Amino acid sequence: GCDCRRFLRNNWLLLSTILAVVLGIGVGLLVREYGKLSSLDKFYFSFPGEVLMRMLKLIILPLIISSMITGVAALDSSVSGKIGLRAVVYYFCTTVIAVILGIVLVVTIKPGVSQKADDIDRMGSTPEVTTVDAMLDLIRNMFPENLVQACFQQYKTKREEVKLTNELEKNGSMVTEEPFTVVMTTEASKNLQNKTKEFKIVGMYSDGINVLGLIVFCLVFGIVIGKMGEKGQILVDFFNALNEATMRIVQIIMWYMPFGILFLIAGKIIEVEDWEIFRKLGLYMATVLSGLAIHSVVILPLIYLITVRKNPFRFAIGMAQALLTALMISSSSATLPVTFRCAEDKNHVDKRITRFVLPVGATINMDGTALYEAVAAVFIAQLNDLELDVGQIVTISVTATAASIGAAGVPQAGLVTMVIVLSAVGLPAEDVTLIIAVDWLLDRFRTMVNVLGDAFGAGIVEKLSKRELEQMDVTSEVNIVNPF
Ligand code: ASP
Repeated sequence: GCDCRRFLRNNWLLLSTILAVVLGIGVGLLVREYGKLSSLDKFYFSFPGEVLMRMLKLIILPLIISSMITGVAALDSSVSGKIGLRAVVYYFCTTVIAVILGIVLVVTIKPGVSQKADDIDRMGSTPEVTTVDAMLDLIRNMFPENLVQACFQQYKTKREEVKLTNELEKNGSMVTEEPFTVVMTTEASKNLQNKTKEFKIVGMYSDGINVLGLIVFCLVFGIVIGKMGEKGQILVDFFNALNEATMRIVQIIMWYMPFGILFLIAGKIIEVEDWEIFRKLGLYMATVLSGLAIHSVVILPLIYLITVRKNPFRFAIGMAQALLTALMISSSSATLPVTFRCAEDKNHVDKRITRFVLPVGATINMDGTALYEAVAAVFIAQLNDLELDVGQIVTISVTATAASIGAAGVPQAGLVTMVIVLSAVGLPAEDVTLIIAVDWLLDRFRTMVNVLGDAFGAGIVEKLSKRELEQMDVTSEVNIVNPF
């Protein structure tokens, strides 16, 4: 009776999302079986899902900016330093544990030993990136030279730019590694447009926000206006109001979410062409998935239990909506609005912690990605009949950790930074193409683990910072408004 109704009222969003996933899978399988859709129809079919993705991506920018600035400004700078340090220690330790777990599993299960690399189809080609380039790029991204540009364009490595111009001069056109992105000179584009309408001319374009760069800037900005006293107050108030408005829009988006998710998952099921590859790469996938499962069901809950001394599974269930969203859209950044809502509303984590810690976590803390990169690198070595020595295993561990920090929270970013790990141990970079076919599926699960790790992190840092939070004066607490 009454209890049941209250449960429904409190969880209708989660329940309708679960229903949407189930319905989406059903609809997808049915349409796949009887629908006879052309590839263009398939594209139209997932349109409502595409709209959901656009809405989530749309809100990331105001969300990150307003939550980071108000979060940091509300804290004393000595307190924010301590909290930041705790968060970073947690991120680093859990990521390293994930990598070690991945290595142990892949070395014992040996998913690649009985197979030859030639038995699996290579798909497409990949650009080279060296470790040094990747590290420099990480630092470059922290300091965007143009704040406005950082909101819509990721920085390209110098080498990439050189390659781009060379190729442009030679051929008049080139296709970058991002799907559907064609870069070409105007002359060439004129020629091409006369011949075919297949390509859209988008110029030099790269998808996404430089989240890392924005975070670094907002961190500094928040600390500065927090210290300005009277004069800074107008800015603090402004960003508080912006944050409240943003969270209200997030709530509107949540209403649309089940509908979008239904079409997103149905569209994906209709689209997958090669199911055979799942059999060929089955053991590899099982290795990655069991590693992710152990990390999220045993290791992270244990760390939470030891530090917070509360039921970790209740906490994880509170995050269910965010975890499901991550599984559906495979992007920690785009899941961030939902992560916020779950952590604050369901798990009641202090807003002064979430605002500060969650955006950073979504960007640099990726346990699932780190585990996956370690497993995939060793798997590819096994496919190539390469015996790895201890030094190489250590190299893989270190670069997998770095690559997970460098990966952006967008779909399949881990596959791109994978190239760093491979080239560090002298494996052919183009061998990432061996695992591309199943990456869309593994990506979903590792993103889910990434988000879970961020959430537990917020809970743990809150607990460890209890004393500082209690000591803080009440006025700063008044600044935090709950829009719900
Ligand atoms: N898609 C993952 C994320 O957003 C990153 C990855 O590709 O591993 O967390």
